[in-house]
Amino acid sequence: MSDEQSKNERHKKAMEKQKAKVDARIEAADTERGVAILLTGNGKGKSSSAFGMVMRALGYDHKVGVVQFIKGEQLSGEELYVKKHCPQVELYQMGTGFTWNTQDRSGDIREAENTWAVARRMLADDSLDLVVLDELTYMIAYKYLDEEKVLQAIADRPREQSVVVTGRGGGSALQDLVDTVSEVKDIKHAFKSGIKARKGVDY
Ligand code: ATP
Ligand code: MG
Repeated sequence: MSDEQSKNERHKKAMEKQKAKVDARIEAADTERGVAILLTGNGKGKSSSAFGMVMRALGYDHKVGVVQFIKGEQLSGEELYVKKHCPQVELYQMGTGFTWNTQDRSGDIREAENTWAVARRMLADDSLDLVVLDELTYMIAYKYLDEEKVLQAIADRPREQSVVVTGRGGGSALQDLVDTVSEVKDIKHAFKSGIKARKGVDY
């Protein structure tokens, strides 16, 4: 057998083994229900990943709700797109910016509560397949929203509904509650070497 042939043979054996393992895991996953996902960490890619899931869901004509707990200075491309082209997505944005812009704690809390009312309604709506709660973690971290009531509403959502929470931090209780936690790690970011935030990439 040539070197190349034996390499191919070894590769085939390893792949067979791998396939058996994956097949067994697929077989073992027999629960069918919506999942709760937390996308956290200091790196770039949390909200854009959540909007990737919005696209996925729309591919199956699922109904989607998106609530954004922090309003940027301008709308992001995905928000513009959803508003323009996705009538089946209910998008709600908190009316104001956030602490370092507004510097009005009690006003921010009022806005957080108003926004939470929309989120809570979505989390109780079994016609929604996917609910995105973008930047929700900050509302918990700043104690603008009561953590327990937020976690309860996520836990009590309809069985088939999936929910995606984004934002840095999030706390251990939220991590314990959800099914999937991914941390986006900041290894480097263009902004730190002086590159301006870019349309269509950063917003
Ligand atoms: P994105 O919306 O691009 O997926 P994100 O949701 O992970 O980013 P946020 O903390 O919500 O991150 O911040 C959004 C904006 O901040 C984007 O313009 C993003 O490029 C920028 N950003 C994210 N992480 C960093 C970082 N570590 N350093 C500098 N800028 C960052
Ligand atoms: Mg974000």
